[in-house]
Amino acid sequence: KPERKKKPNWLRVKLPVGKEYAKVRKLVDEHKLHTICESGNCPNMGECWGEGTATFMILGNVCTRGCSFCAVATGRPNEYDTEEPQRVAEAIKLMQVKHAVITSVNRDELKDRGAEIWYQTVVEVKKASPITTIETLIPDVRNNWDALYRMIEGGQEVVSHNMETVEQLYRKVRPQAKYARSLEQIKRTKEAGMRTKTGAMLGLGETDEQVFKLMDDLAENGCDILTLGQYLQPTKMHLEVEEFVHPDKFDFFREEGLKRGLKYVESGPLVRSSYHAERHVNVPI
Ligand code: SF4
Ligand code: SF4
Repeated sequence: KPERKKKPNWLRVKLPVGKEYAKVRKLVDEHKLHTICESGNCPNMGECWGEGTATFMILGNVCTRGCSFCAVATGRPNEYDTEEPQRVAEAIKLMQVKHAVITSVNRDELKDRGAEIWYQTVVEVKKASPITTIETLIPDVRNNWDALYRMIEGGQEVVSHNMETVEQLYRKVRPQAKYARSLEQIKRTKEAGMRTKTGAMLGLGETDEQVFKLMDDLAENGCDILTLGQYLQPTKMHLEVEEFVHPDKFDFFREEGLKRGLKYVESGPLVRSSYHAERHVNVPI
C-alpha cells in the first residue's frame, strides 16, 4: 500500500477559536440545528463561523445515500420535524446572518423529496429576517421535477446543486446519482428563472480534459456559478485523495471556466460550495 499522502502547506488552516465562533456554536446547539460545517468537517469553520456565517442542514442528519466522499451518516432517516423551518429561521434571525446557506441530506424515501420543508424553510427565513439573502443547496430530486419547482419557489436568491465531480468518476464518487440528471436539474432551475450554481471537488483522479468537459456542460445547461475545491478525506473509510492540486492549478481552472462561459468561478484548495457564498448573490441572472 502506498504511503499516505501528506497534506501540503496550503491546506493548513487555523483552528476554530474566538468569541464569534463560540457564539455561533451556542446558537446552533441551542436550536438543535445541524450544520454541514460540522458534519462535513469543513476546514473553513474558523473563518466562516468567526464571521457569523454557517451552512444549515435541514431534514435531519441521516442521509438515504452514501456518497463515498461524504461524512454525513447513511441510513434510514427518522420522521422529519415540521417545526424545523421555524427553528432555522429563528436561529438565522438571532445570529443576524446576512447570507444564509441552507442544504439538506437526500430524502429519497419521501415522495416529495422533502420539498415542502424546503419551501417552508425559505419562506420562514424570509419572514423572520427579510434582509437575509438565501442560497439553497438542494439535493438530487431524482426526476421529481414538481419537487424541484416547489423547492425553488420560496424566494431564495441562489439555487445550487452540486455536480461534485466529473462524469467519469460518478460511479465511484456519487453512486446513486447520475451526471445527466444533475445537469438537467440545473437546466430546469435556470429555465425557472433562478440564479444557478454548482460545486465540484478536485483531487479525486480527474483529468484536465474531464474538468473542461464538466465546465462546457455546465455553461451549456445554464449554470451561472461554479465552485472548485480540493477534496479532503473525512475519515479513513472514505475515498482517498488522489492528488493535492496546486493553488496555481486552481487559478488556471478559474480562468478556463470563465473562458468557457461560466459567469463566476470560485476556485482554490479550501473553497467549499458555501465559501464566499454571499458574493454569489450579485452574479447577474
Ligand atoms: Fe460552513 Fe461552508 Fe464555511 Fe465550510 S465553507 S465552514 S461548510 S459555511
Ligand atoms: Fe452526503 Fe449529500 Fe451524498 Fe447524502 S447525498 S451522502 S448528504 S453528499
